[in-house]
Amino acid sequence: MRNNINEDLKVFNEIAKMFLKDEITHPVSGQTEMKKLQKEIDISLNYNPLDNKKYIQILKEIVLKTPKTSSRLFFNQLFGGRHSKAVLGELLAVLLNNSMATYKIAGPQVAIEKEIINKVANLVGYNEKSSGGTFPTGGSMSNFMSLVMARDKCSLEIKNKGCPKNLILYTSENGHYSVEKNTSLVGVGKNNIRNIKSNKNGEMDVQDLLQNIENDINLGHSPFYVNATAGTTVLGSFDPINEISNVCKKYNLWLHVDGAYCGSVIFSKKYQKLIKGIKKSDSFSFNAHKTLGTPLSCSILVVKEKKNLYNSFNNEATYLYQTNEDEENLGKTSFECGRRNNALKFWALWKSIGQKGISEMIEKEFLLAEISRKYILNNRDYKIYGPRKSLSVCFNYKNFDAKELCKQLYKKNKLMIGYGSFKNTNFIRLVTVNNNNSKKDILEMFNILEKFTEKNKKMLKTV
Ligand SMILES: *Cc1c(COP(=O)(O)O)cnc(C)c1O
Repeated sequence: MRNNINEDLKVFNEIAKMFLKDEITHPVSGQTEMKKLQKEIDISLNYNPLDNKKYIQILKEIVLKTPKTSSRLFFNQLFGGRHSKAVLGELLAVLLNNSMATYKIAGPQVAIEKEIINKVANLVGYNEKSSGGTFPTGGSMSNFMSLVMARDKCSLEIKNKGCPKNLILYTSENGHYSVEKNTSLVGVGKNNIRNIKSNKNGEMDVQDLLQNIENDINLGHSPFYVNATAGTTVLGSFDPINEISNVCKKYNLWLHVDGAYCGSVIFSKKYQKLIKGIKKSDSFSFNAHKTLGTPLSCSILVVKEKKNLYNSFNNEATYLYQTNEDEENLGKTSFECGRRNNALKFWALWKSIGQKGISEMIEKEFLLAEISRKYILNNRDYKIYGPRKSLSVCFNYKNFDAKELCKQLYKKNKLMIGYGSFKNTNFIRLVTVNNNNSKKDILEMFNILEKFTEKNKKMLKTV
């Protein structure tokens, strides 16, 4: 029988075992160019059914050829590692296959999502009764939703009539690219973004923010929104939220804190101070899939006043007429209609290890960053960039061209690591977001890089 869940769960277990074993011995998958790969693995879809043995064999080949994004040598994106409890929750969510739109079809899953939102809002310092939140598809969507709410707060008529021409928003020159994309989507227009300068550590320059706002007001424009970042994508810098919030208060601007990358510091007593003033924001988001070993995607958006969520995303009635049931029908505050259950995996993790365990995860990642920084600072062949407290450890080795070096490390299946740039300098960006990594893994990473450059000196470009 082809459609047999019990049989296929056995297949899943078999493939999972094989994959997890391979991940230890081959932390970097052998990559092949797409054209070649299509010849090596039978990816083609055909009219006739396939023999099951052959089918399973192909599945295995695909799994082994896929880039290993949770291994100890994956530093290429802002996510990495996996916590088994979060994976367990995710597997259950797949099996249950609820949609989060209504209580009727999601039951306890609604309570689970609400519990996370309440607890996170509480950590931020929002009022429990009036705050709310949702699980958008990711950090980009969290930014989008915050922008829609801020726009509609200017005037509810915008929903009907479209945007007035002069709404202006502010983000750091190091802000995430989704801010730009979203600005065109909400009808404000990219020309109305002011990219605020940053200091040498990549943190937003509040003086420059103030000047831009004053200037726009003098020109008759209407400033309405600031997007500050807790962990910028390249340098992992934290904008000075407390000072920015004072500016926002003065000019009555919506403050969204984009913590997609490092907002999870909210769980740590030790690192909470990096987002001091967060309580004064209007909305805040973070990605549990980035630093907390939770499968993609798991983004949490909390809002100081949940009425803003209703105003923008409930298409039926104004929030004033909501009943108790509305509170339990999460579709009233989400962008999507059918919505994947992204809450259970994070709940399964939190329930098991507690807030204490989550706090230890993020603190360990900062420790790994510190270990990396120390290694670099103690070695004259390296040059370091960026702020002192950050999960992004940016560096150059000898005078090798960062772009070329990262590319060759990938092509030769040695290491998955990327590069970034700041103020016209390119560098390698090591991100210590894999909570399963140890000091040994970090040192192995440096060792691989050093050996590789030594061996390939002639081929590598220098700057
Ligand atoms: C990663 C990132 C995002 C986007 O998050 P996705 O979940 O990938 O959409 C937004 N902002 C910052 C600062 C990020 O680092």
